[in-house]
Amino acid sequence: MSSEPVRDVLIVGGGTAGWMSASALVKVLGPLIKVTLVESDEIGIIGVGEATIPHIKTHNTLIGINEVEFVRETQGTFKLGIEFVDWGRLGESYIHGFGKLGIDLAGHPFHLYWARAHLAGKAGDLARYSFNVSACRAGKFMSTPVDAPKGTPLEDIAYAYHFDASLYARFLRRFSEQAGVRRVEGKVVEVRQHADNGFVQSVVLASGQELTADLFIDCTGFRGLLIEETLKSGYRDWTRWLPCNRALAVPCANVGPPVPYTRSTARRSGWQWRIPLQHRVGNGYVYAGDFISDEDARSELLGHLDGKPLAEPRLLRFTTGHRNQVWKKNVVAIGLSAGFLEPLESTAIHLIQTGIAKLALMFPRKGMSPAVSELYNRQVAYEYERIRDFLVLHYNATTRNDTAFWNHCRTMAIPDGLGEYMELFRDSARVIPKPDELFTLPSWVQVMVGQGLQPADFPPVIGVLSDADLGKFLAHVEAVIQSSVNVMPTHQNFIERYCRAQAA
Ligand SMILES: Cc1cc2nc3c(=O)[nH]c(=O)nc-3n(C[C@H](O)[C@H](O)[C@H](O)COP(=O)(O)OP(=O)(O)OC[C@H]3O[C@@H](n4cnc5c(N)ncnc54)[C@H](O)[C@@H]3O)c2cc1C
Repeated sequence: MSSEPVRDVLIVGGGTAGWMSASALVKVLGPLIKVTLVESDEIGIIGVGEATIPHIKTHNTLIGINEVEFVRETQGTFKLGIEFVDWGRLGESYIHGFGKLGIDLAGHPFHLYWARAHLAGKAGDLARYSFNVSACRAGKFMSTPVDAPKGTPLEDIAYAYHFDASLYARFLRRFSEQAGVRRVEGKVVEVRQHADNGFVQSVVLASGQELTADLFIDCTGFRGLLIEETLKSGYRDWTRWLPCNRALAVPCANVGPPVPYTRSTARRSGWQWRIPLQHRVGNGYVYAGDFISDEDARSELLGHLDGKPLAEPRLLRFTTGHRNQVWKKNVVAIGLSAGFLEPLESTAIHLIQTGIAKLALMFPRKGMSPAVSELYNRQVAYEYERIRDFLVLHYNATTRNDTAFWNHCRTMAIPDGLGEYMELFRDSARVIPKPDELFTLPSWVQVMVGQGLQPADFPPVIGVLSDADLGKFLAHVEAVIQSSVNVMPTHQNFIERYCRAQAA
């Protein structure tokens, strides 16, 4: 590869990753580059990936998406968190809510005060001190109102979306094409490399058309047509920590108003997702093929649907982990071609987004710089690792011993850093997330407590407040949250008034 300016970008693949990349790159690098996207209708997209986290709003704002239009056109609903049913103990559930937990006091995180009161038997369930969780339990939702009362949680409501994955890709495609992205329909049948250095030179379509570029973005899904099949990047496999490697996905009919959260119910050998949309419910069973057959998983899934199935369950196979190099030579992998962490905390679309953001920042002016691609790869690996540990926490911190799968998860070796997090929390309720970690303190605390980890003590500095003042403080936090939830409409009412989609 020469040190010519990098102008022509070819995105191979038009799923969520391909169209998110196209829409963002054309927006931020606009006049400097020419973006072409090739996709194959015959191959299609994976068609799952319907629950998100609040960071997606940054992508939407960047490319100028109108929220009402977006939610309507994707049959979307709103999401304040994830409910985990039967994870820590059979018969129990908790919600990991987005946003803040309680109100910090004197520079110390809220949960430490809660832990002190809880140890003394004087605090309610942690959930009562989360605005998002309280709103979820009440089935309520609204976005931040312009006249939100100062000092209340209504000032900054942390929320995300559920949407129909196929409609989302279509929506982004329209957006990207309007912004100047050229779309080519066709199936890539050959990838040509420069003879001297192995850089990708072009892709050849079944029609015989050849598409050249300076930089290729591999968004071809799990197969990684360029990054793996061509450049042999290799894969870091984390199955030993996250043993689920299959999923069955099936939509079903709605049977009631949509709840403002995703539900994850632990099953015998994995867990089942439930994503409420306006026109249907998305469901799937993520499971470990070593512990249950596909046929038994299918029966377990179909036996736990709210409404009538609308299609045959679709089997998807995956390996948790990521490519050794997600940027190799002149190919950057984004989306499933880069790696996969199972959808327990809805992080895959977020990883697409951060992959694009990093690429925009490190986009080469001339030729490819190994220093830049190494930095990119290090940052992506770190990000994957931090999310991995958070996911492993859900599986390992459980009391379940009713199936071989849960016995395995409860007793398996876990990554070193995670063991330290858990030990520190058990010891003194302290949680000190690493820098630039996606999941911040309120997330770690909610999942640790929800899974059943109990702190034995709290830091001495938290003991300075008198018992009476501590009681008043906790009551105040609860009252502020409750009065804010009281003024909210139900999730269904909000959708009706704001962004009702047309019947599908
Ligand atoms: C079971 C499961 C559940 C998930 N749930 C969530 C979730 O709740 N939240 C979340 O954030 N993420 C979730 N994900 C991840 C999410 O689905 C993906 O990150 C997202 O859909 C992006 O996929 P993609 O665009 O990388 O791949 P795909 O959708 O597979 O797209 C690949 C594209 O490449 C094209 N292509 C492939 N080969 C060729 C070729 N030879 N020629 C031309 N084109 C080609 C295809 O036509 C397609 O357009 C889930 C994933 C799985 C497996």
